Amino acid sequence: MKCDVCGKEPALIHIEGVGNFCLDCHNERMASMCGLDHDPFKYPRDVAVTDKDGEWHYFHLSHMYFGSMIRWQAVEQRGSYEIVERGSVEEPAALQIARFHRKIVDSVWNRTLSVTETAWGEQISLEDHGNIDIHYSSDDNGVSFVIDGRPVSLEELGKMLASYEGWTLQYQIREKSEPIVKEEEELVPVRKSQAPEAFPEQKNDEQSI
Ligand SMILES: [Zn+2]
Repeated sequence: MKCDVCGKEPALIHIEGVGNFCLDCHNERMASMCGLDHDPFKYPRDVAVTDKDGEWHYFHLSHMYFGSMIRWQAVEQRGSYEIVERGSVEEPAALQIARFHRKIVDSVWNRTLSVTETAWGEQISLEDHGNIDIHYSSDDNGVSFVIDGRPVSLEELGKMLASYEGWTLQYQIREKSEPIVKEEEELVPVRKSQAPEAFPEQKNDEQSI
């Protein structure tokens, strides 16, 4: 099915009672609903990034409006990296694109897997902290993972965790657009922000008789 507006691109977004739109026409439509003359996000759609081994990763970039929120997505071509960032129509376009590019570079640069070549082939282990993307899988117990752009099965992840037997896995599940945990960072428990108290505490000495 072709887009109702341009009639050229395939329609990817179907809005009941409104129409069928390709991503660009959807974005133009949403931008005008947000009071803009046109969608201000213009940027090269194809980006290549090297990792720390000098290997190239090729990404196709896109953005999509969700009301006034923008979801940025970079999908690796011939690879499994998928990087997501979020922004908003109120934020300058250049700032969002720069942050998105930074996240792509950080994602391929920071490693969660340690790969060593041995006489018996590649030996892959998990670093003691990092980032693991969770995916649906139809043939692997319903779940599979992508770590450092590499597909990992539940069984493989289990084997890697087995080398930490006797230790504890502390974890935090986060939305994909949240910042990644970098190699030089660590997860530290922080108390969640609390609502301010309704009444300030009375000082004890004021109450004394
Ligand atoms: Zn279109």
